[in-house]
Amino acid sequence: MSSAVDLVVHPLTKWQGPLDLPDFARIGDGDFGPVFDAALKAHEAEIDAIAGNSETPTIENTLAALELAGEPLDHVSSIFWCRAGAHTNEDIQALERDISPKMSRHFSAISMNEKLFARIDDLYQRREVLKLDAETLRVLEKTWKGFVRSGARLDADGKKRLARINEELSSLGTSFGQNVLADERDWALFLDEADLSGLPDFLKSAMAQAAEMRGQKGRYAVTLSRSIYEPFSTFSERRDLREIAFRAFTMRGQNGGASDNTSVVRDMLKLRAEKAKLLGYGSFAALKLDDTMAKTPKAVHALLDPVWEKALEKAASDQKELERLAAEAGSNEKFAAWDWRFYQEKLRAEKFAFDEAELKPYLQLDRIIEACFDVATRLFGISFEEKHGIAAWHPDARVFVVKNADGSERGLFLADYFARPSKRSGAWMSALKSGYTLGQGSQPVIYNIMNFAKPPAGEAALLSVDEAKTLFHEFGHALHGMLTEVTWPSVSGTSVSRDFVELPSQLYEHWLTVPAVLEKHALHVKTGKPMPKDLLDKMLAARTFGAGFATVEFTASALIDMAYHARPDAPSEPLRFETETLDRLDMPDTIAMRHRTPHFGHVFAGDGYSAGYYSYMWSEVLDADAFAAFEETGDPFNPALAERLKQNIYAAGGSKDPEELYTAFRGKMPSPEAMMVKRGLV
Ligand SMILES: [Zn+2]
Repeated sequence: MSSAVDLVVHPLTKWQGPLDLPDFARIGDGDFGPVFDAALKAHEAEIDAIAGNSETPTIENTLAALELAGEPLDHVSSIFWCRAGAHTNEDIQALERDISPKMSRHFSAISMNEKLFARIDDLYQRREVLKLDAETLRVLEKTWKGFVRSGARLDADGKKRLARINEELSSLGTSFGQNVLADERDWALFLDEADLSGLPDFLKSAMAQAAEMRGQKGRYAVTLSRSIYEPFSTFSERRDLREIAFRAFTMRGQNGGASDNTSVVRDMLKLRAEKAKLLGYGSFAALKLDDTMAKTPKAVHALLDPVWEKALEKAASDQKELERLAAEAGSNEKFAAWDWRFYQEKLRAEKFAFDEAELKPYLQLDRIIEACFDVATRLFGISFEEKHGIAAWHPDARVFVVKNADGSERGLFLADYFARPSKRSGAWMSALKSGYTLGQGSQPVIYNIMNFAKPPAGEAALLSVDEAKTLFHEFGHALHGMLTEVTWPSVSGTSVSRDFVELPSQLYEHWLTVPAVLEKHALHVKTGKPMPKDLLDKMLAARTFGAGFATVEFTASALIDMAYHARPDAPSEPLRFETETLDRLDMPDTIAMRHRTPHFGHVFAGDGYSAGYYSYMWSEVLDADAFAAFEETGDPFNPALAERLKQNIYAAGGSKDPEELYTAFRGKMPSPEAMMVKRGLV
């Protein structure tokens, strides 16, 4: 007998810390394995009881019972995946490799449970006569479709094969992410004072900190974290070092050895193509797009292709200017990819007579967090109160109570802002608990993870404009989770289609650059004075600067993602296919994809954005069009519009079709014009 886990009292499943958070201090890494096993078993038993119920299926005894089942599993999972991303170690990583396939097996068993599907199918066939409210009907339809897409109608052999494919994909996805993390962790370029020509102070101190963390106190490290790599390639006068950093950054996941992702990608693409075929779809993209707002690869190309053409034209004319600048600076070298950011920054300084680094002292992390909160208060009436001294998964994580306008508690917001070696790169939002009213109901507990460089003790953390935007972006996702007002857990918060989920986040970014917000919150770290008006105007004018480069690097990644997945089979050599496809698209060799295949985590570290990277741009069409609605009223905080935005977008989750939600907010469908204008492409 193994030692029994009591899910009713275990700190991973019964949350008894302050504010009903998990009591993180009582959770040991060794607890996850046994608690997962017990929680999986408990969930299985609940599912068996629902499937084996001899009474006629009802919404209550089948659909609601299914949605509410597995609470202990939800609890242990949410803590585990938080740790796996934000504060991992070798034990957690080993567990991840063990748990991913277990979870995948568990959920495919549920979706292939014939007795369970028969009960859902029975409800679905009677959906007209059941007289359901709109949200319940949508949840029933989504659930039914989910079963069908998971193979509920396959024969026994087909089901078995599908389960195997899903399991393999899941563990390949885990390896992919871990391989990238390993390459990012293992690579650093250590420099000395003499090598730092051109670098601004904030970058020097971030690099000093990074070197110290890696045991080289007194030196400076270029790492592959975006918040060091990008400014380094923007500011370093040393072309040789920029080239070294560029090659390391673009080769992540393709360095041979144990962390090489070449074969992982090949295997994943093959399995995905097979899965689509098995389920009766023409391609993996067709399968993945079936339940999105775009709905087909054709609709995706109708968006991306014209944008690509415009972006190439813009980038080509921008490059001519950069080459002129390089020649003037005395460079005899052929203009290369590691020159672009550097000369673009010089051109920006020339055209807009200020450099990016001048803005940084005005963008203090704590003030920009306040700005996020302040905008949410003005638009949606909610407020935030920090609770000090509450331990979360790491001492850097902060805890805030979210309050409604009447002072009642709405949920919790946790945020963990600084980079460290135990955190994977990037920025994201997730939930420890989602909000809904079904059954006992649940208040949302939402968190944001960032990777800002940690300042030396006693100094304020300063952000670049991009980092401040990222903060607003992830906070927009967090609002989607915190403002949710739905009945059913499965349509709560960000549980919407991928090409709709970036609307609340990308739209929120617009408020960062609203002059009234910057005037109030962008205060100089030393003088406390607001960002000067001319600097502000220059920054706003500069927003479309570099659009050619940014649109090409993004759209190239989106097009490669579609190219891999919109074909009925899989390329035998994906990296060669990547090169050939880029050639066919006339990709300039002076711009790299934003994410090359071997480290394209959105698409390969799991399934999240496979055949879905386009959706950031799709959402940008939506966000530009949505913000234009506020601009048209002349008031970025127009109360009537803010109320419609809250009701139909931030609070509605996936309770209705995205087209319907958007039209209810805007009064019409979006047009791409505002996006092209916003990007400066037309
Ligand atoms: Zn996002």
